[in-house]
Amino acid sequence: MRTPIYFRKYSGVKLCLRCFKEDFIKRVRRTISRYELLRHDDKIIVAVSGGKDSSVLLKILYKIERDFPKSELLAVLIDEGINSYRLDGLKIVEKITNTLNIELHKFSFKDLYGFTLSEVVESGIAKKLKLSPCTICGVLKRKALVTIARKLKATVIATAHTLDDIVQTYLLNLLRGEKNIRPIGLRREDEGIVPRIAPLRLTPQRELALYAYLEGIPFQLKTCPYTHESMRDEIRNFLTLYDYRYPGSLYAFLNMFEKVLEKIQQPIKSNRCDICGEPTNRRICRACEIILSIRSLLKN
Ligand code: SF4
Ligand code: ZN
Repeated sequence: MRTPIYFRKYSGVKLCLRCFKEDFIKRVRRTISRYELLRHDDKIIVAVSGGKDSSVLLKILYKIERDFPKSELLAVLIDEGINSYRLDGLKIVEKITNTLNIELHKFSFKDLYGFTLSEVVESGIAKKLKLSPCTICGVLKRKALVTIARKLKATVIATAHTLDDIVQTYLLNLLRGEKNIRPIGLRREDEGIVPRIAPLRLTPQRELALYAYLEGIPFQLKTCPYTHESMRDEIRNFLTLYDYRYPGSLYAFLNMFEKVLEKIQQPIKSNRCDICGEPTNRRICRACEIILSIRSLLKN
């Protein structure tokens, strides 16, 4: 019998090194097939940052997609312009994509929108707009990924959201009183939408960190200077502790919440943004609204 290296508290299973690694990949494969996240001929863009989640996702998808010769895998890095932070991540991403021989496409907020996130935060504009750096960053990065996917003719965007991230987002949406909550990371093919998928949606953060360590996957240790300004940080700390005390809680929440979501009819975004033409329920989408406000405040 091989020495166990990991005890999966929520199921009571002990895994040796080999079984842990095999099971890690198997779970991502099972997630992809259970939710029908990918097709055999997809052109996938993976949003990478140099952090461990996206580095692990890129490596796992690289292994899985080798079995599908008609599929294509590209890495996309978006530099938000956070002083010095993203540059470290870029070096790591370059190293991984070079090793795996995956094409890397780099874009920046500065090129796409004309400003960096640090300019918006440090000039006080974020505060004036009553928006946290993470809200601006998240909305604009989502928009950037769609623009880039269209430019590269990708059929799907893969993000590295883990089980923990998805439960945090659902809880955040509930606490903010969001009315229009949609399932996260599941493939949706509504007209005019580039589907976004999260192949790690059933992978706990703790296991991902261990896998990255065991596989020697390089990743950035430095955290974003704005991370502590977000409400997500508090939710993350609470959920991590809660799941540690009551193992399996994250899975229980995800399953229950998504069953409820299935039963609620979510209105389909039928409008098109007057500015960018992307689907939205408003006249001008949230991203364009934020970009316009920032540009006008930067001019003054
Ligand atoms: Fe963007 Fe917030 Fe993440 Fe920093 S912590 S990269 S600001 S979302
Ligand atoms: Zn728009």
